[in-house]
Amino acid sequence: MSDFDESDPFVSRLDPATLRAARERGGSAAVVGGAMAGLAAAHALRALGWEVTLYERQSYANKRVNCGEAMTDAGSIPLPKEPAHGFVNGPPAFEVDIYTGDTDSRILAGRGVFPSEDAYVTDRNLVERSWAELLAERGVDVRESTSVTKAEFRDLSTEFDLVVDATGQPSMTSKAEGTTDEYAGRMTALNADVEGDFSDRYPNAHILFENYLGYAWAFPKSETRANVGIGWAQGNLPEDYYASFVAACERNGWPVPDRSAANVYTIPRGPSLDPARTWDSETRTARVGDAAGVANRFTGKGISQAVESSYLLAELVAEGRVGEYPEELYDRMKNEYRLAYVVRGALEDGRPDILGGVMDAVSGIDVESVDRDPKRAFSRLARRPLLLAKLAANPTMRSRLVDAYADDWEFRRRGA
Ligand SMILES: Cc1cc2nc3c(=O)[nH]c(=O)nc-3n(C[C@H](O)[C@H](O)[C@H](O)COP(=O)(O)OP(=O)(O)OC[C@H]3O[C@@H](n4cnc5c(N)ncnc54)[C@H](O)[C@@H]3O)c2cc1C
Repeated sequence: MSDFDESDPFVSRLDPATLRAARERGGSAAVVGGAMAGLAAAHALRALGWEVTLYERQSYANKRVNCGEAMTDAGSIPLPKEPAHGFVNGPPAFEVDIYTGDTDSRILAGRGVFPSEDAYVTDRNLVERSWAELLAERGVDVRESTSVTKAEFRDLSTEFDLVVDATGQPSMTSKAEGTTDEYAGRMTALNADVEGDFSDRYPNAHILFENYLGYAWAFPKSETRANVGIGWAQGNLPEDYYASFVAACERNGWPVPDRSAANVYTIPRGPSLDPARTWDSETRTARVGDAAGVANRFTGKGISQAVESSYLLAELVAEGRVGEYPEELYDRMKNEYRLAYVVRGALEDGRPDILGGVMDAVSGIDVESVDRDPKRAFSRLARRPLLLAKLAANPTMRSRLVDAYADDWEFRRRGA
């Protein structure tokens, strides 16, 4: 394991004695799904000296993933931060604008600028390809263009000590169990890489909420290239997705992509960190990343969460505590989840004034710290009595707060 020295972002989380003991014990793992969560799981388990087989249904050479191209906490990805590996722009900040509507007469209701010390706008297909190549060099059996069927997935637990479900949403676990009805709703998003003049925006990344239960973004990759996109929650889908995408681009002064260049994604919501669903002790199967429902429910950001869930899983494997994964994952993510879930209420309730106030209040915190250390955001809010009074007076926000603290989130309870 000489390739994995203490400078490795996963290895550096472990103390040397734990690492040594884990490497002596060894083990075998099947990781199903070879995007960010799966690559991180394969990486971390291989660093522990495990025999790891990684199954990815697409080929890395042809993988077209220009969703999820802004990566925060990039230090957790063990690749040089160079364009050759897909890291094309390190934006100093993410600018978030809240508008009262999605017409030309919209008014800016609030603004947050979130510095980003360790974030990159990427060509994600290149990042994934580079990471998969690194893993293959380090002894992971990378089986690309290999789609695991439901029957094969169920059998993996008889062949391997650990099965990692990193298949995104809907997860392979829910398909194999016949529980895809556990998802509580969905988002639809369109995006495309476009060429044009982004010199006024570059290098900052730009996200906007236009009070239609969704968001739009422009992530510049250079002064002349960017990924632009738009997403909607289920109850608020436009009749014509592409026409709405075009209108958003025009409104925001972005180049309009060709219809053929626009990717459409449907993203189910849930099962949202439910500890009962992230680990199956009988089959020793763990869900990580989107399969575990850990993406941020407000921003949609899920890559650093995906990597974190995989590293956490492997850390617990190293410590001989893998059975504690559901509670540990829940503990690690719950505050971020609560903040996101409550703030999303302002969007769903059509209150850009509240959302704008929240953005103003938390502006200036590092984009990753808002997620990892939501207490900072909560304490900023606590210093705004007028905003707090508005939040407290709003029934949606109140009920979301209760739901979030009662863990009554975005999944259907089993048997419900
Ligand atoms: C439009 C859009 C924009 C987004 N923007 C951002 C952003 O800017 N920043 C951010 O942090 N997050 C963003 N997200 C969220 C982010 O993309 C996800 O949270 C992240 O991709 C989760 O990674 P994952 O590895 O868990 O799952 P996925 O990326 O969904 O990967 C799952 C992998 O499993 C493979 N797979 C599935 N089934 C099988 C099978 N049966 N056999 C073998 N392989 C299989 C798939 O081919 C895929 O490679 C965005 C999401 C969308 C949809």
